[in-house]
Amino acid sequence: MDQRILIIGAGMAGLFSALALAGPGRRVDVLERDPPTPAGGADEAFSDWNRRGVGHLRHSHAFLARLRNLVQDHHPALLDELRDAGCQEMKFADGLPAASRDRYRPEPGDEILTVITSRRTTLEMVIRRYVERMPGVTIHSNVNVTGLLGDLDADGRFLVEGLRIRDGEVDREERADIVIDGAGRLSQSFDWLAEAGVTWDEESEDAGILYYTRHWRLLPDQTPPERGPVPGAGDMGFIKYGVFPADNGCFSITLSVPEIEETLRQAVMRPEIFDHICQLLPGVAPWIAADRSEPVSKVYGMGDLKSRWRSTVKDGKPIALNLFFAGDGLARTNPLYGRGCSFAAIAAYMIRDALAVSPDPAARALAYQAAVDDGLRPYFRAMRDQDRQAIRRARNTLDPTYRPRLKAKLMKSFAEDAITPAIRSDPALLRAFMRGFHMLEPSTAWLKRPATLGSVLGTWITPRALKQKYYPPKLGPDRAEMFAALELPATADAQRLGLIAA
Ligand SMILES: Cc1cc2nc3c(=O)[nH]c(=O)nc-3n(C[C@H](O)[C@H](O)[C@H](O)COP(=O)(O)OP(=O)(O)OC[C@H]3O[C@@H](n4cnc5c(N)ncnc54)[C@H](O)[C@@H]3O)c2cc1C
Repeated sequence: MDQRILIIGAGMAGLFSALALAGPGRRVDVLERDPPTPAGGADEAFSDWNRRGVGHLRHSHAFLARLRNLVQDHHPALLDELRDAGCQEMKFADGLPAASRDRYRPEPGDEILTVITSRRTTLEMVIRRYVERMPGVTIHSNVNVTGLLGDLDADGRFLVEGLRIRDGEVDREERADIVIDGAGRLSQSFDWLAEAGVTWDEESEDAGILYYTRHWRLLPDQTPPERGPVPGAGDMGFIKYGVFPADNGCFSITLSVPEIEETLRQAVMRPEIFDHICQLLPGVAPWIAADRSEPVSKVYGMGDLKSRWRSTVKDGKPIALNLFFAGDGLARTNPLYGRGCSFAAIAAYMIRDALAVSPDPAARALAYQAAVDDGLRPYFRAMRDQDRQAIRRARNTLDPTYRPRLKAKLMKSFAEDAITPAIRSDPALLRAFMRGFHMLEPSTAWLKRPATLGSVLGTWITPRALKQKYYPPKLGPDRAEMFAALELPATADAQRLGLIAA
């Protein structure tokens, strides 16, 4: 008899789990409480798809190279369908800084550093329609999973036997051999496990930023602006920004603001302030010139962003059997790094591999946790550490008495006077750096190789005058200038925090 797999949620983790697991001998049912994709194409999906289960559906999305490569390796026809739907591929060479473009020599392997960008509604629509056509897979819409079927075994592990479901007005039970939770950041499965008396290890902390996104469409016959010296994405500390080219002449702009910058983050929700900020950023302004594009959405805001890691093995024992978590239910990361969808997809393929390890549910659960600990957790930790640094930096920006210590000065100098000019001057170093960025190898592996470390250190000791042209251009006004231009009180948050007298 076929193995029965139930997947909670048809978001990224649910869809990638279906892609990873569908095959002979398996029946896969994906249970999604939101409605299906509306009839029509990408524009209808963007304007009409009501996805209450995915609050970030209309925020900018990109698939890192690791995820694009995974799609290419396992489902090349899906990659073609994404391209046909208008999703954009941004190649390694497209991201070269102006200062080093003439030093670039294409190398075999550069194609594995390609990113996909698109409206998320388009990405989801195309992947979902592809999954719906797969033999042995059914996506059930408007079906709410309300509980786990099963019980604790003698070892205190929750043995999952299926799911409780509310389908329209009807409550029923569905039996399964394997359940995958792809229910996202608000997944309730851990709550249901807790109700049964299960405990687990979890770490969670604020990502320290809020996210704001607005969408535009190029006017008829208009094209994206030529790439200038100032990049379309950057980090100014009090604002991080990015332009995301998308499908069918659309693009979005995301501004992210540190949580501590309350004045700015309240203001940025207003479209006129959002647009004003964009106009003040030279890497963004040409995109939104009135003769090039028009806004097609409100400003979407998103808070409560967290880094959260949950472990399904406690004290060497699985907390549950026949239940696997993929996606945000397992690990949430700051969207700034653009790794959430990659995490979800990689985890889905790790579940596939764990199921092949052994017929024993405990061995499978341990194999899966070992795989995510080894393959995902180091990236999680690196991102969380970067968030902690950014949170400190945002606070220090508001504190007029802040004086960095020697260690902080050295770290800043290593980032700004060594790494940044090094990767901006030498495409080979940028290539090495990007492999970590795209999760093709551990984030800092490139710096551990003697040759690359030597080049970076060489850049560090090079006098500034000789490497001047490899420093990034000014990304926009500094904080005081920006607040003045927006007519916002620049010291209100420092006063609120007691860092300066009211
Ligand atoms: C603002 C923002 C921007 C982001 N940008 C990027 C990016 O550029 N690149 C990237 O890789 N990642 C990005 N991410 C992260 C990425 O979107 C998430 O990591 C990803 O969506 C997680 O997939 P998921 O399947 O776990 O959750 P989701 O995609 O949220 O899907 C969960 C699904 O489960 C359904 N569901 C929940 N509970 C039930 C239930 N009880 N019964 C039935 N169905 C249920 C929901 O309706 C939903 O459809 C971003 C995140 C945010 C917040």
